Amino acid sequence: MSRIDLSAVRREAFGRWPDILAVLGLPAAALTKKNKPCPCCGGTDRFSFIDQGTGRFVCRSLDGLGGDGFALAMHWLNADFPTALRAVAGALGMAAGVAYQRTPAPAALPAPAKRDNSATIAKLWSEAHPLKAGDPATRYLANRGLVLDTMQAALRCHPALGYWHDGRRLGTFPALLAKVTSPTGEVVALHRIYLTPDGRKAHPADPATGELLDAKKLLTAREGAMRGAAIRLYEPDGGTLALAEGIETALAVRLGSSLPCWATVSAWGLANAVLPESVADVHIMADNDVSGTGQQAAKKLAKRLLDEARRVRLHIPTTPDTDWLDALNERQQQEAA
Ligand SMILES: [Zn+2]
Repeated sequence: MSRIDLSAVRREAFGRWPDILAVLGLPAAALTKKNKPCPCCGGTDRFSFIDQGTGRFVCRSLDGLGGDGFALAMHWLNADFPTALRAVAGALGMAAGVAYQRTPAPAALPAPAKRDNSATIAKLWSEAHPLKAGDPATRYLANRGLVLDTMQAALRCHPALGYWHDGRRLGTFPALLAKVTSPTGEVVALHRIYLTPDGRKAHPADPATGELLDAKKLLTAREGAMRGAAIRLYEPDGGTLALAEGIETALAVRLGSSLPCWATVSAWGLANAVLPESVADVHIMADNDVSGTGQQAAKKLAKRLLDEARRVRLHIPTTPDTDWLDALNERQQQEAA
């Protein structure tokens, strides 16, 4: 694949983002300043397209709360930066792929090829090994107070995973991988926590800004694939299952209560969790967020599960700004004292 000149594409794209994004299939109705559901990830009013020549947008579900047109292309295509850059360059006629048309007739445009990362997910998963004592992933969990009773099939340790940011590889790190499974049992995403060899979160610095980058990343197979999906850490036991947002929280629930627990990855994932019919008894292990996000997601889920005629118990830690991992750590400290 020929190298694409980022600054040339950026120059060429200036002022043309609505057309470029239309070529990529983003609905034109989404490209206004008005607050509205995100065309990429839903919600009710989290999205606004500001443009100002650079394709600037806001999506309040993203860690960075938005970005420029390239970030929007990444969000829309559910793709990494190199892929989004290639798509934008293709839309501008600067790379093999979609030919750019200055005034495209939206109805006449071919449907954009749906990006599918399934092969990458399978490859990374096959390169990783089951957790074993002393590996960076097991050390990371132990550093968080999580010494597992059994090694989970949904978790693996990757020995050297590339960290990509803005089209550059910033290094390779060991990583804790978690397999995210759809309601039908398909692996639809890989949750990755980049680590140091001694089991701390790795935060590579952005070479452009010096900003420390997030240790956690999610690689999804394709757009919409996360709906109803979860990291199935433990199988439901006698019709009982607990749900938490984060992997660490879900493991803490298991260690603290013996309940089998799944991780839904995010508050959105918790609100939209889809459970097997066999699960009759659900414990929702919410985060106590100061923002109220975790609690709202948990209540939304509780209401739906009750409508599905399941027994639901909602558990929220009493201390504000804590989750069930914090609660477990506090208990462990008291027991050790
Ligand atoms: Zn969004």
